Amino acid sequence: MLGIARDISERKKAQEKFKILFETSRDSIMTLEPPSWKFTSANRSTLDLFDANNENEFTSKCFWDVSPNIQSDGSPSSKKAKIMINKAMNEGSNFFEWTHRTLNGIKFPATVLLTRVDIEEGKPFLQATIRDISEQKKAEEKIKKQNIKMKKLDKIKSDFLNITSHELRTPMSAIKGYIQMIIDKTLGDINDDQINALNVVLRNSNRLDNLIQDILDLSRLESGTLKFIAESSDIKQLVKDSIETMQSFALSKNMNIEAHIEDNIPKMKIDQERIKQVFINLLNNAIKFSPDGSTIDIRVKKQKKDVLFEIQDFGRGIPKKKQNKIFDTFYQVEGGMDRKFGGAGLGLSISRGIVLAHGGEIYLDSFEGKGSTFSFTLPKKPVKDMEGRFKEVDIFKLENNNETKKRYKEKNTYRKGV
Ligand code: ADP
Repeated sequence: MLGIARDISERKKAQEKFKILFETSRDSIMTLEPPSWKFTSANRSTLDLFDANNENEFTSKCFWDVSPNIQSDGSPSSKKAKIMINKAMNEGSNFFEWTHRTLNGIKFPATVLLTRVDIEEGKPFLQATIRDISEQKKAEEKIKKQNIKMKKLDKIKSDFLNITSHELRTPMSAIKGYIQMIIDKTLGDINDDQINALNVVLRNSNRLDNLIQDILDLSRLESGTLKFIAESSDIKQLVKDSIETMQSFALSKNMNIEAHIEDNIPKMKIDQERIKQVFINLLNNAIKFSPDGSTIDIRVKKQKKDVLFEIQDFGRGIPKKKQNKIFDTFYQVEGGMDRKFGGAGLGLSISRGIVLAHGGEIYLDSFEGKGSTFSFTLPKKPVKDMEGRFKEVDIFKLENNNETKKRYKEKNTYRKGV
């Protein structure tokens, strides 16, 4: 007898505890029962959420009585609510978004979790947990509007750069052509001082032309209008041609470029001129930022799904904390100081765009004072829609790419010095 009494008292205590939990929960919790699916109990938060004065006022209602007649997808609330209830009853639980309405007629977006509760005696019923997500929806709406605005601004910027740089290039060709003709004395004799002066004009015109070309490339990449012509390409030849283009610059600094290309590299369907542009840009940087007399190593290796290209220098390197910005547009490690080398911080952004458009990836491993290795991969299986790929890439995600960090940790390949 004593045992039974203790059991009853323990059960009572447990019931009390659950009642307190139910009542004090900040979530709006209620129960609803078949066959009418009217609410049979509701905690304080529920009454507050639906502006009900007391439990009786609320428990006389059905789920669809505290909803507008029509849901946001156009379906009648009563019909849709019954579908949701059935689903929870058959599958154990059902989580969904719903538009509710308070007893004062104010609509609000919510999430609903319906959970089937089975008890020993009596029929199973449902427990509902409802959360008002008005604030979350407002924030989402704000972000959506901001995104649309940013996309519009981005398009204006791209169009502006595209049109202006195109318009600037046309007169540049005429300017350069005529200067060259004067230097070549095609239009009559000129003296050495005049030739020297015109050579300075020509050099600066070329620099301006390169900058305009870079801006044009970048804006076209961003707007998905840069055309790629993919054709079967001999990689060895491509690397050789790129080295040849940079050879005189390397020799002017008494530098040696060594290429190690595996014999089994397959022909690849790529835009040769664009990939050459990447190579030349990486080589140009490697030469620019390395001391006279040092070496540059190029390695090309076949991997399982792609071909890996590495350009390693033993120059000044890039400080660790600046490495994640290195592919940003107009970014230069030493700011204005680096501009005196003749660049504007666009080469790496363009290179990244070209590699990504080909379905590859580009990485940096660098140690300050020791040198840098820029590597990129190109997939053996060519990708479709090169033009649209860069536009779709989430640059923020890319910059936080763990893969890049992993490679950085794995590799420490500074075997050779100057
Ligand atoms: P730039 O035309 O200025 O070279 P890039 O986008 O090609 O533009 O490079 C951006 C910056 O990254 C450079 O200005 C330089 O500060 C740094 N950088 C690039 N490559 C190297 C390298 N191999 N060694 C050291 N710094 C480099």
